Amino acid sequence: TALASFETAASLPQAYQYLSQTLQAFARVDSLVQATSRVNEEGSAMTTWYKPDLVIRDVHFCYESSEAEILSGFDLDLPFGKHVAIVGESGAGKSTIVQLLLRFYEYEQGSIQLCGKELRTLDAIDVRSCFSVAEQGPHVFQTTLTDNLRVANKTATADQFHKAVEISAFDEVAQQMVEGYDTLAGEFGARLSGGEAKRLAIARAILADGDIFLLDEPTSGLDNITAVRVIRGIEDMARDRSLVMITHRLIGLEGMDEILVIHDGKVVERGTHEQLLTSCGRYRALFDLQQMEQMIDNTVPSSSVL
Ligand code: ADP
Ligand code: MG
Repeated sequence: TALASFETAASLPQAYQYLSQTLQAFARVDSLVQATSRVNEEGSAMTTWYKPDLVIRDVHFCYESSEAEILSGFDLDLPFGKHVAIVGESGAGKSTIVQLLLRFYEYEQGSIQLCGKELRTLDAIDVRSCFSVAEQGPHVFQTTLTDNLRVANKTATADQFHKAVEISAFDEVAQQMVEGYDTLAGEFGARLSGGEAKRLAIARAILADGDIFLLDEPTSGLDNITAVRVIRGIEDMARDRSLVMITHRLIGLEGMDEILVIHDGKVVERGTHEQLLTSCGRYRALFDLQQMEQMIDNTVPSSSVL
């Protein structure tokens, strides 16, 4: 079984390699290890997903460490092929949705169904194989940039690799390093800035090649022009797949089929970018605020990025 072969992996690098193959790129080993104690990992045999659809209904959730309800009746409809953005202020519970979808935490109330099957009845590793994930804070391994990308998909072709680093704009990061893709990264190697790590996360998601892109704050740390270019590339890549883009930064969302605005743990507004701007609600207010911040930044010589 999967666990047995993990235990027999002789070294940490081998263990990582094994995990990357199994999880199709989910590189957050620490969370994964923690997660095994929290959720029932036993489930049905390996599922092969075919055009998976995802339905979230009235999900309520709090972390064990606190009384506060983070999600209070969250809903999402994601028929296969739909592109959705989930937006809201920092702390609104956006990343928590990712945690639940990947079965790192168990939801108590409500329902999450993948292909009509309740998530908690499915094998966590099976569930993760359905998603192409770009985490909010990706783990950078103590190895070369190439291997840091390849954890997402060991059997990726040169063409897939090229596409991933181009769309994510990670190529520019690697080009700047003295040893290019052979540069050692991680704690004792080249430190990646927030924006650079973000590009790595996006490249991994593309390499992972799952059916549902799940991107948590894909544009944080990127300048406006790069942010829009990366989003357009992802949308193109996800043309025949589903896309869930989670972000507090309202940039490049014009092409989304639907934008959900969350507040107090539930969806308070939904519509396209155009519709939400016209309806002058929370989205519009956030959008105007960010435009204003942008204008202020632009008038300062060393403008910072949101
Ligand atoms: P967002 O991604 O929208 O910024 P998060 O989902 O990360 O928000 O967090 C929502 C709330 O849950 C925040 O108040 C945060 O402090 C809390 N939270 C996040 N992760 C944990 C955790 N592991 N344990 C306890 N509380 C958490
Ligand atoms: Mg978050």
